[in-house]
Amino acid sequence: MKIYRNLYIVINAVNGSNFQIEQQCPQCGAPIILDEADRILSCKFCRTRVYLAAEDIFHFYIPPAGGISEPIYFIPYWRMKGLSYTIKEKDLNIEYQGRSFSYSITSTVNGIDIANKYFDINFLSLDSRLLPHSLGLRPQAMKLKFVGSNPNEGKFLKFSPASRDAFINDYQTRNGGIQKAIFIGETASVIYSPVYCLGDRVYDAILKKPLDLQKKDAEVEQTLISSAEEKWHVEFIPMLCPDCGADLPGEKDALIVFCDNCHSAWSPSNKNFIKVKFLTWQEKEEDITYLPFWQLKVKVGGIQLETYADLIKAANLPKVYSEEWTKTPLYFYAPAFKLNPALFLRWCRQLTATPHPKDLIANFPVKKIHPVTLPINEALESSLLTLVSLIANKKHLAELLPSLNITLEDYSLVLHPFKISSSEFVHTKIGFGMEKSALNLGTYL
Ligand SMILES: [Zn+2]
Ligand SMILES: [Zn+2]
Repeated sequence: MKIYRNLYIVINAVNGSNFQIEQQCPQCGAPIILDEADRILSCKFCRTRVYLAAEDIFHFYIPPAGGISEPIYFIPYWRMKGLSYTIKEKDLNIEYQGRSFSYSITSTVNGIDIANKYFDINFLSLDSRLLPHSLGLRPQAMKLKFVGSNPNEGKFLKFSPASRDAFINDYQTRNGGIQKAIFIGETASVIYSPVYCLGDRVYDAILKKPLDLQKKDAEVEQTLISSAEEKWHVEFIPMLCPDCGADLPGEKDALIVFCDNCHSAWSPSNKNFIKVKFLTWQEKEEDITYLPFWQLKVKVGGIQLETYADLIKAANLPKVYSEEWTKTPLYFYAPAFKLNPALFLRWCRQLTATPHPKDLIANFPVKKIHPVTLPINEALESSLLTLVSLIANKKHLAELLPSLNITLEDYSLVLHPFKISSSEFVHTKIGFGMEKSALNLGTYL
């Protein structure tokens, strides 16, 4: 697995730059430019709106330069961009200082630290030591296309999903993580780069220049010919409510769409929409914007965390013990939208540590909903971070971590009421605020 070490490079110097995708309208054929994060295609010519879906992650390719008559082979690269959190063990030096006398005692305790960083990487996703390890510097102005949009484009080599696990293991080792690195707000896709063979050389089909293969061109050509072929295409789901047939509105990067007519919520899955449970913490006031949060019922192996009383104990929360807490189920919460890293974790922690509201209403007609841009599986990953940051006994936790496993038992989306001021969103029920700029920053992920 060592071969993937140091094989990735940063392709975009600036966080927030996304690739653009060129796609024809499936209805009228008009050319449409999409952003990499877009999930809804809207055609301004024929007014068609479709949801872009796939069985797995999106597959794009970089179109080859014109005038190449040789067969084109497309080499797969993983692209990942977003935020990673690493859970590290660290020695905390705690200094006790006397107030009235000048003395200090330093002691070292085992602590746990959560570090985060932005990343934007790509790496070869094919078992080959000879092919270029990354996409290299490609101009951002270059437009990608969905694999499958032109059946005669060439041969797309089957990508190896194992390369992603190898990458994650390596990433974790390099960052000193004691637990699997957690990726949140990530864009993961496969990007194909074209090559062709001419004479006894293999050429980059974008630059039309030979690859530097150290005279192993014949060997690489053999790999290209013998590799399995990938068949993939994007699915277009009509933006119609499966229950009532009404048009589904939605921001272009929305992962969940809400029906205004019958008050249902839908999550696209491969070829159709699947219903998502959602609850609203209703606010009677006017002018409320609802922010979506994932509410997760999880099973944590190794720690007793069934009820809110269990959490009070494990996290040493300053709450007065009440019999009621022993009957209140514990839910983990995570923002269902992208948010700056420190705030993201703070909201996970604050909402998880607040007892579950009792007056939630199902299928409430909500007018203003902030788009859901963070999927449930990433919210699930975040529950480990929430747990790590909440548990009071870090030493015990450090021992538990390697064997800790979290499984999702049930989930729903909960819409929380916020009032917008000039610079802040304020939760009308619990009073916590969220700067508007933190949400804007999140959208760059
Ligand atoms: Zn159209
Ligand atoms: Zn409907």
